[in-house]
Amino acid sequence: MNIENILKNSWNKITQERVDIYNFIKDISIFNANDLLNRFCDIWRASVFRTINLYVNLGLIRKIDLGDKIETYEFIDNSIHHEYIKCSSCWDVVSFECSDICKKIIKSAEKKWFLVQSHNVWVFWICEKCK
Ligand SMILES: [Zn+2]
Ligand SMILES: [Zn+2]
Repeated sequence: MNIENILKNSWNKITQERVDIYNFIKDISIFNANDLLNRFCDIWRASVFRTINLYVNLGLIRKIDLGDKIETYEFIDNSIHHEYIKCSSCWDVVSFECSDICKKIIKSAEKKWFLVQSHNVWVFWICEKCK
């Protein structure tokens, strides 16, 4: 479904700003408010934050816990399961597809603890920029 329909079906106004933000976060997939503020300097700060809240409420993005103070969000793509790799120097985050590994983790955990609700995989590296 495209963003115009999602907004329309949820009784929200379709604005160019909202469409632009949606297309941007869909592309970069992981972001924080600063990424949006830098990219859309012509959009009011308050409306950037309002759009983030709106998209969280609509289930299009979710806040992810990366263990630091900056609130990071990810675009929800239900078709792939992924985890994150984080640079230990600049804290930059990228996601990678890892359903095989996670399936194994859940399987072995469930042998012992039956019903696993959630899991978290942490991978750290030194990114290209910091090398
Ligand atoms: Zn780095
Ligand atoms: Zn996983």
